[in-house]
Amino acid sequence: MTARIIDGKLIAAELRGRVADEVARVRREHGITPGLAVVLVGSDPASEVYVRSKHKQTQAAGMASFEYKLPADVAQHDLQALIGELNRDSHVHGILVQLPLPKSLHAETIINAIDPAKDVDGLHPHNAGRLAGGSAALSPCTPLGCIILTKTVHPSLEGMNAIVIGRSNLVGRPLVQLLLNEHATVTIAHSRSRHLKQLCAQADLVYAAVGKPEMVRGDWIKPGATVIDVGINRLSGPDGKTRLVGDVAFDEALKVAGAITPVPGGVGQMTVACLLVNTLRAACAIHGLPPPGV
Ligand code: NDP
Repeated sequence: MTARIIDGKLIAAELRGRVADEVARVRREHGITPGLAVVLVGSDPASEVYVRSKHKQTQAAGMASFEYKLPADVAQHDLQALIGELNRDSHVHGILVQLPLPKSLHAETIINAIDPAKDVDGLHPHNAGRLAGGSAALSPCTPLGCIILTKTVHPSLEGMNAIVIGRSNLVGRPLVQLLLNEHATVTIAHSRSRHLKQLCAQADLVYAAVGKPEMVRGDWIKPGATVIDVGINRLSGPDGKTRLVGDVAFDEALKVAGAITPVPGGVGQMTVACLLVNTLRAACAIHGLPPPGV
């Protein structure tokens, strides 16, 4: 058996297309252009790549893109002052502070300074709390992308057994809440979990968000399960070239799973697309418009 490959690249492109259509409609009918502000502190090369990609895709969707690049030694109060300005700026509907921030800055205080209505990363405690309470909220983009990818295979997740490996605020925890909202039965595993292989083998849906290259092996997977690999790990080969691998041993899992996301070309593609969705949703909510059709 060979698993169906879930094509994140294609699904993300379709989603971006639907966002662009809705952005055009909102501008035509209401004269509003959704705007996303991205704040990058320092010059981490991976973060710079992400920010460039966000800028390009935001503009391609017909939204306004505002970029703020600050030096790594920016003072905490100056960064907070910028967040305050963006909170008040009526052209900005979404604010994203690219993580990780330099160690000298207190990330939690910065995130808490973002207006929850503009918190398109879904990390503000207001949104995390609403999501945990089962209410409508701006939710983190990567978990949203995981749910969309899963639903291309299973339109309803009701009653399915899911395991989420990883419990970070960015991925694991919000993903668990989104799965609960979809009526899945969820196990959340982490570095202290025992018998991970056995837990995994019971799951119809496996989400790996660990940051450990190829940790989830083929013989952990229940035959026919759907595997969503969030991990992005850079490995260097003997030739000095680097390659990306996920948290799942792809070649092994491919032979057992029913469907699987590749790395690259899976979840990573969905994160920015869902950021655009969140910015559009935030813009509609801020202006008192009905939620967009994406
Ligand atoms: P974190 O490091 O914040 O969290 C990792 C989680 O994995 C923790 O909960 C940790 O447990 C758990 N863990 C670590 N080791 C083990 C183990 N041996 N067995 C079981 N659980 C373990 O990472 P993130 O959640 O931010 O990211 C996870 C991965 O997803 C990374 O590879 C990252 O690059 C990738 N990522 C990809 C994105 C995308 O767009 N595709 C976006 C964001 C992240 P504990 O809590 O006990 O420490």
